[in-house]
Amino acid sequence: MNRVRFAPSPTGFLHIGGARTYVFNWLYARSTGGQVLLRIDDTDAGRNTEESLRSILDGLRWLDLPWDEQHFQSKRRSSHVQAARALLASGAAYRDFTPEGEGQTERAAGEPWLFNPGMRELGTAESDRRADSGEPFVARFRVPRDRPGGATFKDLVYRKQFRRFSDIEDFALLRSNGDPTYHLASTVDDGELGITHVIRGQDHLTNTFKHILLLEALGFDRPAFGHLPLLLGPDGSKLSKRRHGALVSVTNYRDMGFLPRGFVNYLSLLGWSPKNNQELLEVPQLVEAFRIQQVLRTNAVVQFGDKPGSAQCDPKAVWLTGQHLRRMPIGQLMPYCEHVLRDAGWWLDELAGRRRPWFIEAVDSLRSRLNLLSELTTRCRAYFRDDYGFEAKARNNLEKSGVREMLHVLADRLDASKEFTEKSVEQEIRSLAAERGVKAGLLINGSRAALTGQTVGPSAFRVFTIIGKARCVKRLSAV
Ligand code: GLU
Repeated sequence: MNRVRFAPSPTGFLHIGGARTYVFNWLYARSTGGQVLLRIDDTDAGRNTEESLRSILDGLRWLDLPWDEQHFQSKRRSSHVQAARALLASGAAYRDFTPEGEGQTERAAGEPWLFNPGMRELGTAESDRRADSGEPFVARFRVPRDRPGGATFKDLVYRKQFRRFSDIEDFALLRSNGDPTYHLASTVDDGELGITHVIRGQDHLTNTFKHILLLEALGFDRPAFGHLPLLLGPDGSKLSKRRHGALVSVTNYRDMGFLPRGFVNYLSLLGWSPKNNQELLEVPQLVEAFRIQQVLRTNAVVQFGDKPGSAQCDPKAVWLTGQHLRRMPIGQLMPYCEHVLRDAGWWLDELAGRRRPWFIEAVDSLRSRLNLLSELTTRCRAYFRDDYGFEAKARNNLEKSGVREMLHVLADRLDASKEFTEKSVEQEIRSLAAERGVKAGLLINGSRAALTGQTVGPSAFRVFTIIGKARCVKRLSAV
C-alpha cells in the first residue's frame, strides 16, 4: 500500500506552498488507495514554536483532508541516533573532529567535495579514542569517492536525475551536540515508517541525492520521489511573508472567508491541471483526475495583487470559492455560515432551532451572489441585522420623487394584508404603482434600497420574504 508523508517543520506558519504539497500528497495517496502521514519535523528544538505547530495543525484541519497517522520526529530521536551509530560502526559514516568554525565550508576548485579531508581517513582506533575522551565530533556520511559515476533516480515529475559523487559533500548526520540532522532524521523516518512516495517541493531535489545514498547504506527500500514546482509571486520571486504579506499564510484564507473545498481546488491547480482542463472540481473529482505524472515542471504563479504586501488574493482562488459556495449541498454549507455569524458575534441560538428554516432559505437565496463566506456579514448585513448602511446608488433610488411616500403606503398595506408571500408582495407593489401611474420598477428599486441599503441582491420579491413581514414594514415606514 502506498504511504506518503507531509513533513512540515514547526518553525513558521502553514504556508500556501506547504499546503499545496500536502494537497498533492493527499490526492496521490487517495487516488491510489494509499495512506497519508503527517510528520512534524520538530528536531530543531531551538526554532520550533507552539504557535507555529498550531498554525500548521489549524491550517491542515481547515483544509478538511484528513490524514491517517501523525508522528513527531523528535519522539523518534533514538532511532536516528541508533542509525548514525550503525553507520559509524560499518564505516559508512565517519567522525569529523574539526572544531566548529575551523573546517572547510566550500569545495576546493576541481576537487571532490570533502569536508576536512584528513578526518575521512582517520583510523578507527584513533577515532574511537578521541570520541571516548569526550571530544565533540560531527558524524558525516562517507560519500563514495572510489567509484566513478554518481547518484541517480527517476523523479516522478522531473524525470531522470543524476549527480556525480564528487559533487555531493560528505554531509552531516549528527551535529557536534549529538543532534540528528534533517537528512538523517528524515531518511530514517521515511525508511522506518514505510514511506513509499516522497512528494515534496522542488527545493529538496538536491537533497534527494544524499537521501538515496543514505537509504541504501541503511538498507531501506528506496521510495519513489516526486518533486513539485515552486510557487512564485506575480513578480517572479519566491513566496515570502515579507514580500507577499499575510496572503501566504493558509489560516488567513480561512479567516478571509474562503471555503476549504474551494481553496483545495485552487491549490490543486498550482502546478497541475487535469487532462480536460476543467478547473472547477470537487474533492472526489480531484482524487479521480489527479496524476502525479501530469504535474508540471514549470513554476506556478500565485496571482496576488501586483504591489508587495497588497491584500488582493488571487482572483482564481476567490472565483473557485464562489463557485463551490453556489453549488455545494446547502446542508454542508450551513456549518460554515454558522461559524461566520458566530465570529461576527451575530449568532442567535434560534438560528439552530425555530428559525433554522429561515436561516437556510436566506443563505440559499443569497449565495448566488457570494464569493466568500465573509460577505454574509458585509454585503448581506441587512438580512441579519437592522443596523445596515445605504450605498449611494440605493440612496438615489429613495430620493426619486414620491418614492418615500409610496413606500410608507406600501408598508401600511403589507401590514394590513393577511398574506405575505412573494406573490402577494408583488401584487401590492404592482397595484400601488398602477394607482399612482408610476412604473412598478420605481417601487421595486425603492423597496430594495429601503430594505437592504443596496441595489443588487436576490430577486426583488424574495428580498421581502427573507427579511420578513415585521422587519419589512418597519424598514419601509422608516425611510
Ligand atoms: N521538514 C522539511 C521541510 O519542511 C521536510 C522536507 C521533506 O519533505 O523531506 O522542508
